[in-house]
Amino acid sequence: QAKASGRNAMCFFDPDMQEVVNVRVVLESDLRRGLEKKEFLLHYQPQVDGNGRVTGAEALVRWQHSRRGLLPPAEFIPHAEESGLIYPLGHWVLETACSQLSAWSARPETARLNMAINVSPRQFRHPDFVDQVLSALDHTGADPQKLKLELTENLLVHNVEDIIAKMATLKTRGVGFALDDFGTGYSSLYYLKRLPLGWLKIDQSFIRELLTDPHDATIVRAILVLAKSMGLSVIAEGVETNAQKSFLAQHGCDAYQGYLFSRPLTFEQFEVFYSRKDTA
Ligand code: C2E
Ligand code: MG
Ligand code: MG
Ligand code: MG
Repeated sequence: QAKASGRNAMCFFDPDMQEVVNVRVVLESDLRRGLEKKEFLLHYQPQVDGNGRVTGAEALVRWQHSRRGLLPPAEFIPHAEESGLIYPLGHWVLETACSQLSAWSARPETARLNMAINVSPRQFRHPDFVDQVLSALDHTGADPQKLKLELTENLLVHNVEDIIAKMATLKTRGVGFALDDFGTGYSSLYYLKRLPLGWLKIDQSFIRELLTDPHDATIVRAILVLAKSMGLSVIAEGVETNAQKSFLAQHGCDAYQGYLFSRPLTFEQFEVFYSRKDTA
């Protein structure tokens, strides 16, 4: 074993290690193949305001794998990030969500819908990221004011000045930002103050036991107070019950997303859902 042969020794024949490497290589070529064969698709989860009106959707990527069926992002996003394939995948998500947004805007019935897109830290840090967003907006004709990028706190681990500069550039063009999974990552109030954010998105882990765990209730109230005092809007994710929604509403939450309203939908399902809601 490597350990027995000294601290700095490398063991090249560790079968477990070989297994890990194999899995990684297989996944990476599989991801590459999936991208080439266009096996990825987006689902759209409705976001609603305090009156229950659908204001837009979050685009959530899925992989329609030829053998393994429909895969959720947890099964492949980490590998895409690690291998760098998040660049082409993230680019595809951006293009696809922007053309959907533009299609919504073109029809009077869906014209006021907004689109939220998740952006991986590695994707955001890429030197071409800002240009990619601007060119996606440009050639799809999507309205930047209707686009919201969801960033996570993990992005703020290093080069924060560079991140702020990129956000500022996009913000001047009208693009908005939400800090996703808020409360679970590296949070510094110092950065929170400096980032050109419009929204905080409370992580679903705080919502789940909101009514049974007093700590979660305290955290959620604190986030709402903090956000208000900084002029930020708040959306809660993972809202599954009316009781959770009422608690959040009572404490000033601005918007909601979760199974209480709808699961993530294909775009056809989304349009049916929306037209029913709209006329209800
Ligand atoms: P997220 O951005 O925090 O997205 C919310 C996740 O919670 C989604 O899982 C959604 O399906 C799920 N969810 C929504 N409402 C409820 C609810 O009421 N209860 C419960 N239990 N869950 C709910 P999903 O689609 O599996 O996505 C997981 C994560 O993958 C996302 O978390 C996001 O971080 C990432 N992701 C998704 N699409 C993309 C993408 O296009 N690019 C990147 N970089 N990451 C993505
Ligand atoms: Mg998100
Ligand atoms: Mg989230
Ligand atoms: Mg989350």
